[in-house]
Amino acid sequence: MTQPQIQTLDAFDPLARKRDQFSIPEGLIYLDGNSLGVLPKGVLGRLEHVVGQEWGTDLIRSWNKHGWMDLPVKVGAKIAHLIGAEADEVVAADSTSVNLFKVLLAALKLRPERKVIVSDIDNFPTDLYIAQGVNELLGGAYELRFVKKDTVEAAIDDSVAVVMLTEVDYRTGYRYDMRRVTEITHQYDAISLWDLAHSAGAFPVRLNHCGADFAVGCGYKYLNGGPGAPAFLFVAKRHQQAAIPFLSGWMGHKAPFAFTPEYAPAEDIRRLTVGTPSVLGMSALDTALDVFADVGMAQLRQKSLKLTDLFMELMEPLCAEYGFELVTPREPERRGSQVSYTHPEGYAIMQALIDSAVIGDFRAPDIVRFGFTPLYLGFADVYEAVERLKTVMGTGKWKEPCFQVREKVT
Ligand SMILES: *Cc1c(COP(=O)(O)O)cnc(C)c1O
Repeated sequence: MTQPQIQTLDAFDPLARKRDQFSIPEGLIYLDGNSLGVLPKGVLGRLEHVVGQEWGTDLIRSWNKHGWMDLPVKVGAKIAHLIGAEADEVVAADSTSVNLFKVLLAALKLRPERKVIVSDIDNFPTDLYIAQGVNELLGGAYELRFVKKDTVEAAIDDSVAVVMLTEVDYRTGYRYDMRRVTEITHQYDAISLWDLAHSAGAFPVRLNHCGADFAVGCGYKYLNGGPGAPAFLFVAKRHQQAAIPFLSGWMGHKAPFAFTPEYAPAEDIRRLTVGTPSVLGMSALDTALDVFADVGMAQLRQKSLKLTDLFMELMEPLCAEYGFELVTPREPERRGSQVSYTHPEGYAIMQALIDSAVIGDFRAPDIVRFGFTPLYLGFADVYEAVERLKTVMGTGKWKEPCFQVREKVT
């Protein structure tokens, strides 16, 4: 595609107007919204109000006056809209890891006679670690059937309690067929648990259409809630009464302010909350989600596919010349909103590229990863990012020793 053609794509992009709602440093091309979304401008004002007025002046009265208490369900309802769930099936709380712990235990309890958890060996490590911890807690009674993607379906049988998968692979961007895998899971009467860390806000997720049982996801990636933003969890309506909250804190109690000594879970999704919500983080996420209010998720997906298609096309000559290898599926249905390549010098190349004001990231052992967030990226950004990478490779800039030094966060 030529530069004038790319300009035309931007000129006719119905989502181009959204970029103005984000605070993006001048000259920076940010291809890491899959790791930490950029700041929606409205969040600054909201936090100023929450800190200055609500906390600073109204103090404890704000729990009622400013609806602090209802933030987890209010924010959950906004997220529900993006992931194909009902408003009362989602709540914002804790971190993705902690939510996974809670819903995995609840899901296992629904199939007490079964002792197998199926997952993808290439799943994000925290997901696998949580399953290992849960197994320890339960006396090591479970078989953790962690297998490669191409054998996940075959690994599901009638000994399986829970099939726990991340819809989009964080390294390669491979996207599972959620409907198909959930159907197979249900054929064997097992429970499905989906991690939407790289799905929510990136494309339309259809949890109920797919028949999903449980899900968790992240607030600081495509939802732009800010570093360490609250995460969310989903429990299908049909399971809410039976989903036992093993982290049985007072916020999940049906009457927290009755202060009774016996625990009794809330009737609704709130039962899977634990302690006092982090109001600053919840408020930031609440306002961040407003950028989606007038966005059609189908339209968002269309643009995401065009951006990633363009990137892959422009990268082809670099693959041929410099040895990048595409590891993201080309088939639209099988990928999320990121594009990844392997390269033996991937770490140094990414450091040099970041120094050239194109931010992507690196995942060990050799993957360079580029995330595309259609709300604030244009087609000219994609073109310019590839141009800067071309310069990094052509000049050999990446060979400078300073780009070899490994930082704590890659
Ligand atoms: C980012 C990510 C997480 C993050 O978990 P935290 O508890 O927020 O650190 C979990 N799972 C997957 C698949 C992720 O991509």
